[in-house]
Amino acid sequence: MQNCVFCRIVQRQRPARVVYEDDAIVAFEDINPQAPVHTLIIPKKHIPSLLDITDEDASVLGRMLQIANKIAVDKGIADKGFRIVNNCNPDGGQTIYHIHLHLLGGRQMRWPPG
Ligand code: AMP
Ligand code: ZN
Repeated sequence: MQNCVFCRIVQRQRPARVVYEDDAIVAFEDINPQAPVHTLIIPKKHIPSLLDITDEDASVLGRMLQIANKIAVDKGIADKGFRIVNNCNPDGGQTIYHIHLHLLGGRQMRWPPG
């Protein structure tokens, strides 16, 4: 999708600090990190939000969680712990309408998240 910032990152039309890529998924560092580790994991396919996933998207969503796990291990935060977040629609705090997981870690996370 042409005016989607994350599609532009997938197409390498916009710079990003990419830490992982395969045929279906890209992961890159968040431009405005909220923790020492803040990486975004996205499908290459433009899916606006969690509400838009179809049966055929289920496997890529599962794979995104596997990649988040791998990045957490690679960055050395797995043992101490981390948080995976998906913000959905305005009350969820979603600002970019291309589905993504936030991997957050490297500090103590608080609850409730605010
Ligand atoms: P959300 O509010 O859940 O939709 O998350 C969107 C995230 O994308 C925010 O944490 C932003 O800091 C991040 N973001 C926005 N533009 C970029 C970009 N060009 N490169 C990397 N991260 C971005
Ligand atoms: Zn997109």
